[in-house]
Amino acid sequence: MKKTTMIFVAGLLALVLVFPVLAAERPKGLENKGPLTKMTLIHYKRGYAKPDWVGGKGKPKEEKCYSFLAKGAKWKSQIGEPYKINPLRSGLNYNFVRTAIEAGVNEWENYGTNIFGASEIDEDVTYDGETWDEINTVDFGLYPNDNVIAVATVWGYFSGPPSTREIVEWDMLFNTHWSWGNGNDSENSVMDLQNIATHELGHSAGMGHPDNACTEETMYAYSVLDETKKRDLNTGDIKGIVELYK
Ligand SMILES: [Zn+2]
Repeated sequence: MKKTTMIFVAGLLALVLVFPVLAAERPKGLENKGPLTKMTLIHYKRGYAKPDWVGGKGKPKEEKCYSFLAKGAKWKSQIGEPYKINPLRSGLNYNFVRTAIEAGVNEWENYGTNIFGASEIDEDVTYDGETWDEINTVDFGLYPNDNVIAVATVWGYFSGPPSTREIVEWDMLFNTHWSWGNGNDSENSVMDLQNIATHELGHSAGMGHPDNACTEETMYAYSVLDETKKRDLNTGDIKGIVELYK
């Protein structure tokens, strides 16, 4: 055996023998866990901004038409995470808002496991994209860019081995630059709340944006006034949520 080959083999053996020892020395449950970070997903009106796929490594594949914020990053408690809705600044009937958000929740739960819990109306909660406060929040307010329809912030452990990744909080803001309502109402052009909520709730569950060719998916990154097609999950959305929560 050549000397260089011997050194290589010895090095390989050392790696194989030493690595499990190092891994075993870490406290159980904290192997490579963390840090806790956030991902901010911005939902633009169609035609604005360049593709803004966020999350994971590499580009989403067009033929799959779904992506994850990070592979394996999902809710793990299985009890259903409660969330608070503040319709104060929406200009809408509170029941309309709650019904639209819950419809979005139900659409994902038809295919995923028990991701979301009960909703609660709370006029005191506000969207805060900077702080992890353990309250999942739905809020309305003016966002400083008119081309933005809504923003979702998802907190979690997105690095480390996929099996250790986890989502721990989500918050979303609907930009009141737009008039919100029911897109099927023929009298006024509005941003359909259920349509956009279903998209944002996909982020809350761990879904990212698909390739920009996948225009029919609920998780497609752009929307227009009166659009309602995101209310129902498309084939890519369904494949994605089923794979994430299997
Ligand atoms: Zn989005």
